[in-house]
Order: sequence, then C-alpha cells, then structure tokens
Amino acid sequence: MNPSTQTSTPTPYASKPVRRIVIAGGGTAGWMVAAGLSKSLGRLYDIRLIESEEIGTIGVGEATIPTLHFFHEILGIDEREFMAATQATFKLGISFENWRNVGEHYFHSFGTTGKPHWTAGFQHFWLEGRKRGLASDYGDYCLELRAAMDNRFAHLPNTGLNYAYHLDATLYAQYLRRYSEALGVRRIEGKIVKVHSDLSGEASHGGITGLSLNDGSLIEGDLFIDCTGMRSLLLGETLGVAYQDWSEWLHCDSAVAVQTASVGEAVPYTRSIAHPWGWQWRIPLQHRVGNGLVFSSRHLDDEAAKLALLANVQGEVMRQPRVIKFTPGQRELVWKRNCVAIGLSSGFLEPLESTSIHLIQRGLTRLIQMFPADGICQSDIDEYNDQSRRAIETIRDFIILHYHVNNRTDAKLWRDCREMAVPNLLAHRIQLFKDSARVCLDSDELFRDNSWIQVMMGQGIAPSAHHPVTRQMSDADLGEFLGEIRKDAARSLIKLPKHQDYVSRFCGAP
Ligand code: FAD
Repeated sequence: MNPSTQTSTPTPYASKPVRRIVIAGGGTAGWMVAAGLSKSLGRLYDIRLIESEEIGTIGVGEATIPTLHFFHEILGIDEREFMAATQATFKLGISFENWRNVGEHYFHSFGTTGKPHWTAGFQHFWLEGRKRGLASDYGDYCLELRAAMDNRFAHLPNTGLNYAYHLDATLYAQYLRRYSEALGVRRIEGKIVKVHSDLSGEASHGGITGLSLNDGSLIEGDLFIDCTGMRSLLLGETLGVAYQDWSEWLHCDSAVAVQTASVGEAVPYTRSIAHPWGWQWRIPLQHRVGNGLVFSSRHLDDEAAKLALLANVQGEVMRQPRVIKFTPGQRELVWKRNCVAIGLSSGFLEPLESTSIHLIQRGLTRLIQMFPADGICQSDIDEYNDQSRRAIETIRDFIILHYHVNNRTDAKLWRDCREMAVPNLLAHRIQLFKDSARVCLDSDELFRDNSWIQVMMGQGIAPSAHHPVTRQMSDADLGEFLGEIRKDAARSLIKLPKHQDYVSRFCGAP
C-alpha cells in the first residue's frame, strides 16, 4: 500500500532499523534536511516531506555565514546556479552601527585580521603598535573588512576571501526542493492535523508512529524530523520536550520585517543598526532589500515598531510589514525517541549573527554522521543532544556579548543589558580579554578568535595588558611587521572589482 494514502491507525513504533524518514515541514530547515539526507543516504531510505502551503513558512532568514559553503560542497551545488536562483549577493561580514554607542561603528568581518604568531595572537602586536603610535585601525589589517568597506569583491585564487551570502529564503527553499525531488524525495502537500505516538517502552524505543493529514491520509515512518517551525509540533507539542527560555540575557522577543526595492548598489555586508529598543537589519539581495527590526516588546509596541521600521528603510515598500514573535531559547532536548528537531522547532536565539541556517546545517550534518544503523540507540541520542547543547550555548554567549558590553546611556534596554549578570563562561571570557587581551576557546566553537576580538574591541573593551613578547620587538621591527600586513591588504584590495559589478557578471544579473 502507498504509505501516503493509508488511512488506518499506525502500527506501534519499536526500535528497529530505520527505513522510512518523514520530514514534517518544508521551510528552509525542511528542504535543507531533505537535500542533505537525499544526497548522502537517499538510495537507502524512503524520504518524504510534508508541508502546508496554507500555513506557509516564516519567510525571513536571508543572511548566512561562511559555513554554508560546506553544505553546498556536500550537495555539489554550482555557485553560479545557486546565486542566480536565489538572487544572492556576497557577504563579507556585518557592520555594527550605534552598538557600542550612538554614532559609533565597527565591523565584524569573516576574514583573518593580521597574522598569527605561535606565542600570541595578532591583537597583542597591534595593541603594542598602538601604544607606540605604529599601528593604524585594527580593521586595516583585514582584507575582507577593507573590501567590504570599499564595496569590493572577487573570488581570489589560493586562499581567497572568506565570504558568505545574502539570499532570498523563499527562493532558496524552492531551489533545494527541486534539488531534493530530483534525488527522489517525495513532497506531500497537506496539513498535519494529528500526530500519532506510542510512548510505551524504553525511551529510545517508543515514539512517533504517524502523521494524519487534513485529507484523511496517514503518513507512517520510522524516523521523524520535526521542521515545523516555532510550533515544534512533534518534539515540543507531542513529545513534550520543554523549552529553555533565555530571555533573561536576550531581551529582544519580536521582529518586524519588510521588503523594499533596491536603491543603489548592493553592498557586500549586512547592516545591523542599533536603536533604543533593539536593532535593525538591512540585507541587500540582487532584486530587493530585506529589512527588519528586532526589538524588545517591553520597550516598544508592535505598531510603533512598524512605524519605526518604515521610517528607516530606503526604497519602495514591496509588502506590508509583518510582526513575528519569538522566545529566545532552545528545547531541552533536540532528539527524543525517534524524533529530531531541526530549525526553529529546536529553538531560536535571534538573528544578530545570522546563525540559524548554520545551526540547521550543523544539526543535519551531525544527524548524518550519527545516523542510526540498526535501530536508534539512546547513547547516540545523548551524544547528539550534548553536542547540540554545547554548540548553541557558545553561540548564545557570543550574541549576548554584543548587548552586554556597550556604552549607551540613552535607553533603558541598553542600560539593562549592560547591568545584567551574564553566563559564567562569558563573564570569564570578557574578564580574561580585559586583563590580558587573551581569547581562549574550545576547538569546536563556531565563532573563533577573530570574531571574538573584533566584537569585544568593537563593543568597547580595551585590554589593560597584552603579551610581553611584543615588547621584545624594536620600533623598526614592529613597524615593519604591521606595515607589511597593511600593505598586503591594500595591494589585494585594489585588484578587486566593485561588488555589484562582480555579482552582475558572475550571475548574469542586470
Ligand atoms: P518555517 O519557515 O516556519 O517552516 C515551517 C514549515 O513547517 C513550513 O513549511 C510549514 O508549512 C510547515 N508546517 C508547520 N506546521 C505544519 C502542519 N501542521 N502541517 C504541515 N506543515 C506544517 N536565520 C539565518 O540564518 N539568518 C538570518 O538572517 C535570519 N534572520 C531571521 C530573522 C527573524 C526575525 C527570524 C524570526 C528568524 C531569522 N532566521 C535567520 C531564522 C530562519 O528564518 C530560520 O532558521 C529558517 O527560516 C528555518 O525556519 P524553519 O524551516 O525551521 O521554519
């Protein structure tokens, strides 16, 4: 019998080899999962994806980070084809405006600043150079940052620029749908109206058995991937996994988004502009600009947020602003029994450092790497949950850092963020950097030294000391060391074309 048209009660689930994978939800998460699973394991499993046009997708999520290259490499995606299909532009980092203080600006680039030395990071040499009047702005030593500020981009030979993309989320899901269907994924249009489960037996045995749709059909499966968005229909609502609320540290709980027609050239970076009640994004695509305001509902109401956003966009508004509510946090478990939540169903921090699509990709690649062979083992579930928790907690801390370290005195939100107690590890990292300019991270963390240093200094931390090895260098040696790095960046910069011209040539855009 065709499983998609079966109408009886589902058979109970017991730990048995997985044959049928059911993906519930077809937003960015659902289709990324479908693409990744069909590419890596598609010949072994029956993969179906259920989505509901009536419910639709969240429709935001357009800025990415460089890890997306890895996902595209796995899929064997052609960059030109992908960029043309999703109206994508290149992204070299994020411009943070008014974050440290009103009227001040810094940049978090994806590049490496300076050159590392085995004794100490580049920041130590730069700090010594600054003290002796030998160093210019920290960003002058990073090619990606200089290219972004000068609106330039190209694929460079050898190491190249470290970059990500801005993309149209709806077009991206459609692109991945075509990709997945070509590899045999079956899409089922319909609304899930009932989730059947058998929760008797050991934790790794019982689980979800089937999903009833509004047309009366029943979709049975062995492994269910919950990509139903913030509602978390399978993991949260059915399996009862609680949500850890992190709003004590991340005060923004709402967003309003609007698309506008492009005016002027697309810049190769996201703009993040802080306001008294939150911050605003501007994401330039080839055909339009994505705009949004992320705000704290305790400091601004929805109507005022819409007006504030509309007052701060350029170009004709293409659709009326839409308000989205969220609770920053994470499900206590992201894999329970035979259900794995990937995407918003597993949690959401907030979009400040564009980490959600990365977390989808990471959840998916982790699942593929730990894919159950002869039935689902509790040890795999525990390991998966532990790795996922550690990954998101360090990203959470990095985001909190932006809010906590600030000099703004104009608004309560910013004063509250500065005065709040932060997680212990973050508090330690801030103190360590203040005392010694050192950054010590675990090897598997997403954001590396380059990111932490740019944001810590950008937000206004001035370390009180740095490594003594830098004092060994004479003025001439230190000046030459710093000067060469700066000149190298300048030499490469002038070879780069304007970003807009490069995108047009690369994608054949008008
Ligand atoms: P959704 O897009 O909500 O998809 C859920 C799917 O489940 C839909 O297909 C829906 O039809 C289906 N569904 C739900 N219930 C049912 C049902 N009962 N029956 C059948 N189908 C059902 N991420 C980034 O990486 N970069 C960003 O710049 C970024 N910006 C963001 C800005 C905001 C304001 C927000 C809120 C999020 C942002 N994100 C960003 C996160 C990003 O949008 C999401 O991670 C991404 O879109 C994945 O969403 P999803 O697929 O999990 O959920």
